[in-house]
Amino acid sequence: MKDFDYVQAKSLSEATAQGAGAHARYVAGGTLLVDLMRLNVERPDLVVDLSAALESEIRVEDNRVSIGALARNSDLANHERIKLEFPVLSEALLATASPQLRNMATVGGNLLQRTRCPYFRDVGVRECNKRTPGSGCAALAGYSRMHAILGGSESCIAAHPSDMCVALLALDALVHTEGANAARSLPIANFHTLPGDHPERESVLFPGELVTHVELPRLPFAKRSAYVKVRDRASYAFALASAAVALEIEQGTVKTARVALGGVSTRPWRAFEVESALLGREASEQNFESASKLAASDAKTTPHNEFKRTLIERVVAKALMRAWKRP
Ligand code: SF4
Repeated sequence: MKDFDYVQAKSLSEATAQGAGAHARYVAGGTLLVDLMRLNVERPDLVVDLSAALESEIRVEDNRVSIGALARNSDLANHERIKLEFPVLSEALLATASPQLRNMATVGGNLLQRTRCPYFRDVGVRECNKRTPGSGCAALAGYSRMHAILGGSESCIAAHPSDMCVALLALDALVHTEGANAARSLPIANFHTLPGDHPERESVLFPGELVTHVELPRLPFAKRSAYVKVRDRASYAFALASAAVALEIEQGTVKTARVALGGVSTRPWRAFEVESALLGREASEQNFESASKLAASDAKTTPHNEFKRTLIERVVAKALMRAWKRP
């Protein structure tokens, strides 16, 4: 591992001032950055510790929930009001990593998780546009079973790894940030970027800008929500395909639907075609299955990940059924 300097920021302004340098990186739980530094994928000159600069409080208010960026994934997953009023978020977090990692990982860090593409994590592989812009993409002609079938480009097809972000997308969450000059409030749908020609950029954050907290609006569909994740083993594995869904049902008819996908896309993905097909229709297994067939209609697959097309359809149908049956 390369030598680096370390500073613990005592305030938000100190953090953003220290973190603005091109070779500075923020650390909170450390479950992501330290891992990548050990692999030499990340080689910062300065590590800015945020543990004394940000909040970890989860505040439940009348019309919203505010979640500090330092809230631990386990605390959020096991919060009684989150389990009851935003079950999709609790389920997504409990499907993430291992109990030990959830105890350390923070909400802010989870928002900025980096891909598990094996070529990205192996510095012995030269071609990776995300790690070394302009170097090529080893996955395009390589082994791509875990890679994205939605939102990819000629430069990168790495799948987004977060479960939590998929649930936040279904819940219309807002991401609040602070930069050197201003604070911003961003709908999560606009927070992560598509790879396009610049897969090294993964969010709309400016250099030095950091996430301060996440806001969940209190919307009528949040309670009737569910997360379904399919992976290679029962725990401590990333999604092959996942779906976060939320439904508002009135007199047996779907009034509002949110369907977000994970494991199959380069960023958390809204399945708008599925949502449209559900609106105004009777809530029924048959209608859910028929709408789910639209989940991957724009997919571009490789011979290794063609199976994800059918898998995501089934995962969406299962998630819709679970949300519908929720008491
Ligand atoms: Fe790198 Fe993206 Fe290609 Fe993986 S898919 S090798 S992260 S450019």
